[in-house]
Amino acid sequence: AEKAASDPSYKPTSKIFDEFALTDRVGIVTGGNAGIGLEIALAFCEAGARAVYCLDIASAPSEEWTACRDFVEKLGNGSRLEYVAADVRDQKAMWKAVEEIGDREQRVDMCVANAGVLRPPIPCLEVTTAQFQDVMGINVNGVLYTAQAAGRQMSRFGRPGSIITIGSISGSLTNRDHAWIPYNTSKSAVLQMTRSLACELGPKNIRVNSLSPGYIYTNMTKAFLDRTPGQLEIWSDLNPLKRIGRPNELRGVATWLASDASSFCTGSDILVSGGHHAW
Ligand code: NDP
Repeated sequence: AEKAASDPSYKPTSKIFDEFALTDRVGIVTGGNAGIGLEIALAFCEAGARAVYCLDIASAPSEEWTACRDFVEKLGNGSRLEYVAADVRDQKAMWKAVEEIGDREQRVDMCVANAGVLRPPIPCLEVTTAQFQDVMGINVNGVLYTAQAAGRQMSRFGRPGSIITIGSISGSLTNRDHAWIPYNTSKSAVLQMTRSLACELGPKNIRVNSLSPGYIYTNMTKAFLDRTPGQLEIWSDLNPLKRIGRPNELRGVATWLASDASSFCTGSDILVSGGHHAW
């Protein structure tokens, strides 16, 4: 900007979209077999990533994932969408799975700790230890193990990295009808874990941010929205845009967070909620 101001003949060489390019980068996305994770993985491939590994609990990828892999092959930009069966609750297995990706690709640059579950609501005075630990084990422990696995590989290759944890509007707001104690508590923990990881990993040039969606229409929410007539309208009324979000509406922000365009952003929570949080 200084050069442009002092020299009227100065022509900038870098275009803003170049800063969003993920050319040659390697990413992992947990819960990447469906929904938000798969959309983000696809976006990374479209932005030029060399390979994006979707880690998910299913032993084999979904038809939707396979269709996306075929789509990526047709992009013709050399990008690959890969599938690895892995359970985020298993710390050792996660470290090993991501280490093997590091061995194969000789780099890991981006990680989206996205796998998460929302169980049916239970009144807060009745939640059992097993019900609480079920959700915490995936939504909190799983995010930690994923971030550790990726951070270890980013450090191993001494490269800058971007870790994105998927939080939720429910990490800061409470649902109107149910406290949804395990889920909301888990997502609050993700936000604080993200800030803590950002502080510790910042000196290694590994950035850690959370991306917190509002209500998005995926398998997770379909279970609730489609079961009760009128539920879609009720949830849509919870934000100023008056609708549920689509999983592809997280693509741009996730790509920005993974890319050099967000190089000074760490320890932040980015809300994409249709304005739900503003009410
Ligand atoms: P989906 O259920 O569509 O996708 C989540 C994926 O994670 C599924 O493929 C699921 O597999 C997988 N998964 C579940 N448990 C594990 C595990 N132990 N190890 C590995 N993978 C696992 O949900 P969304 O795409 O909607 O959710 C993605 C993230 O976004 C979650 O963290 C969620 O909390 C968050 N979020 C979602 C919102 C929404 O409105 N949809 C709102 C705010 C946040 P399977 O289906 O086989 O269980």
